[in-house]
Amino acid sequence: MTTKKNYQVCTRCVMDTTDPDIFFDKEGICNHCHEFEQTKSQHHFSPEEAKRKLDALVATIKNDGQGKSYDCITGVSGGVDSTYAVYLLKQLGLKPLVVHLDNGWNSELAVKNIENIVTRLGFDLYTRVLNWNEFRELQLAYLEASVLDLEALTDHAISATLFEQANKYGIKYILAGTNRVTEAILPLNWRYANKTNDAVNIRAINKAFRKKPIKDFPLMSFQKHAYYWKVKKIQWVSLLDYVHYDKATAKKIIETELGWRDYGGKHYESIITRFYQGYILPRKFGIDKRRAHLSTLIVSGQLTREQALEELAKPIMEEAVLKQDLEFVPKKLGISKDDFETIMQLPPKGHYDYKTDIKLRNFILNLNRKIFK
Ligand SMILES: [Zn+2]
Repeated sequence: MTTKKNYQVCTRCVMDTTDPDIFFDKEGICNHCHEFEQTKSQHHFSPEEAKRKLDALVATIKNDGQGKSYDCITGVSGGVDSTYAVYLLKQLGLKPLVVHLDNGWNSELAVKNIENIVTRLGFDLYTRVLNWNEFRELQLAYLEASVLDLEALTDHAISATLFEQANKYGIKYILAGTNRVTEAILPLNWRYANKTNDAVNIRAINKAFRKKPIKDFPLMSFQKHAYYWKVKKIQWVSLLDYVHYDKATAKKIIETELGWRDYGGKHYESIITRFYQGYILPRKFGIDKRRAHLSTLIVSGQLTREQALEELAKPIMEEAVLKQDLEFVPKKLGISKDDFETIMQLPPKGHYDYKTDIKLRNFILNLNRKIFK
């Protein structure tokens, strides 16, 4: 293996040196490709094995959930993966509480899709509506802090809400619409790795830029997460690991069976997500997340490298949509376009430039290793 010096792109996938930690072997194949093979060998099961594991999991969940209103919990964004997961739960005969986080940025169609899905399947929906003004100010604080992962706030709130609700109803299983194989490639530097349970980092950025206490935003510290995980035994399961997950087929199924309607673009269910991935990330941080997504499709055999390169040659966002979002997003955040551009020009900072819980986290993880090894 050699480390990169100049611009280089992997000869197998389309990951390149915009990931500062990427490295290549002598054939020019990147570490992500090698790591993918490793993840696949751990989490990709043969159809028979997957069915056996899934049947055993479902039997345990049903057994544990006897006499309860719900035996599992799942989050739904209105996108393909989470919608398909809800559909699967029905097929498996489970009784989930379906949870949705309303952060104020959902497209109208996403709201319609979610309502439609739960009504058709006869499931209960719990929608956690964030205090918009507080959340807006928190997002502004993240923008002013100039940190990379603006979406950390939403991801944190979703995870915290799922654990809170699971705890409230005595549910032991969070069945997520995720798949560790088809989402395997995502560089550590392209997100904040501890975002789902580092409340210290959120508080630090809030204190530095927003300067008032957090009142309503769902926070989950690493200790609280450890309590849910170790004491309350709440497990997080990547449900789509257990089925042959092909996105195109899943989409067809939810369209036919649930009346789900397409948004016309990846992440178009949330305006802030599409704007973040289509404008803020590439412009300010030089990151085109499509590379990771397309690379995963290549290595999992769903797309050729040529098709991926063709896709990458297209603009990240359609001109008309971008123009619309450039007007809408600053306005919704309560700042002028000029102020937004000033923020875009601030030099990027790392999440670790602000206080984090890393010392405590490492201490607890080491202790856990020593006790439970
Ligand atoms: Zn590669």
